[in-house]
Amino acid sequence: MLLIKRLKQHIPVTHLMAATICTTIVGLTAMLIPSEEAPASVFNQTLTTTIQLPLTPIVADESSNTVETAEIVSEPAIAASAQPQPQPQPQQIIEQWQDFTVRNGDTLTSIFKRAGLSSRDAFLVSDAVKETNALKRIYPGQTLSFVINDHQLHKLKHIRNQLESSMIIATDQGYRVKEIEKQPDITPRFVKGTIENSLFLDASRAGLSDRMIMELAAIFGWDIDFVLDLRQGDHFNLVYEEKFLDGKKIGEGNILSAQFVNQGETYTAIRYTDSNGDSSFYTPQGDSMRKAFLRSPVDFARISSSFKTRRKHPILGLTRAHKGTDYAARTGTPIKAAGDGKIIWRGKKGGYGNCVIVQHGGNITTLYGHMNNYRKGQKNGSRVRQGDVIGYVGQTGLASGPHLHYEFRVNGVHKNPQTVKLPHAAPLDKAERAPFFAVAEQALAQLASYKATQLASASK
Ligand SMILES: [Zn+2]
Repeated sequence: MLLIKRLKQHIPVTHLMAATICTTIVGLTAMLIPSEEAPASVFNQTLTTTIQLPLTPIVADESSNTVETAEIVSEPAIAASAQPQPQPQPQQIIEQWQDFTVRNGDTLTSIFKRAGLSSRDAFLVSDAVKETNALKRIYPGQTLSFVINDHQLHKLKHIRNQLESSMIIATDQGYRVKEIEKQPDITPRFVKGTIENSLFLDASRAGLSDRMIMELAAIFGWDIDFVLDLRQGDHFNLVYEEKFLDGKKIGEGNILSAQFVNQGETYTAIRYTDSNGDSSFYTPQGDSMRKAFLRSPVDFARISSSFKTRRKHPILGLTRAHKGTDYAARTGTPIKAAGDGKIIWRGKKGGYGNCVIVQHGGNITTLYGHMNNYRKGQKNGSRVRQGDVIGYVGQTGLASGPHLHYEFRVNGVHKNPQTVKLPHAAPLDKAERAPFFAVAEQALAQLASYKATQLASASK
């Protein structure tokens, strides 16, 4: 069988002609040159009466009626000429697929009507497939493809995406449903880059998609503040999965391993899926890349005052220590619990104004001051998880503008929230360690071999 390109009716005529000729030439290789045995009309015939099962989705197009006119053609395709010829060859099944792109507000019935079928047909089909998953959910942009002969539905294909379709086939015993699932080929890809401007610009120049950049930032965001800590010359490399279908890239999978060198310090992350099926990133030593505490309990905030042992208080005018970090943010900006813990204070507290204190493990407490208001539904004693909102930025107490005053104490001693070494989140289970180290060893070897290959080719 020869697989020839799929064509569509709306392709400009010249292309169609060219394609027709190509198609035919391939089909006719044995005949070399068309002769009287293959009159001109045959060309068209060959093109429009041979088909491919179009598993790849059809590009959404205004012209909903795109006739699939392409091709698989086995050698006897030529036999599909206009003149029926008595031949001992097996009968060529002629199928003409018609594609309809699902529009907003479409129902099965409305699409059937566009295809020239009745609402009764739509009812019979949906009744026949109701015990299956076929045609359960039809979304705009998907494709329904029909083979209709003599106003009779022979086949219907619901192409949900590049990988999944359902085929409904009319048989003597009624409609039969066949699920078609394609598995993409997954191959690893290595990318490296150096920071000159910003993570986004430089990673994007290195060839990473926005999604991959976000994931990279999320993996290392626990250790590196990509706004404040990044320096020119910092560099990164990673291995991630690319998905291919029939040789065409259709998407990206997971990051498998990654390294980021920030101000001379190397951070390495390896993806590991544990026996519960949960995936996360770990250091080569098996520590979680996640930390037990968020570095900053507010997003989109600017540090307006750092931790200092001595400073002049902006309101009191006295010189005294600033035992926390101030984050300037708009009133109402959510404040998140930096780590898992229990609320042990929720109320007014002198110059802190509305204040929440959370007790964490390891004798650590965090304090959040000047809140405008508290998160509803929580109280003193409530358990909170890392990232849970506990209140909102305000300027209650002694504050010259809306900001969060944040303190981090270990055994009652104030630490600088910006620089304190944050403990890792829960480590791998004992039982997971051996399988993790096997995965890590492979991942690191793969990363090293990619880097070596690149070095070798760069020095040529
Ligand atoms: Zn402060």
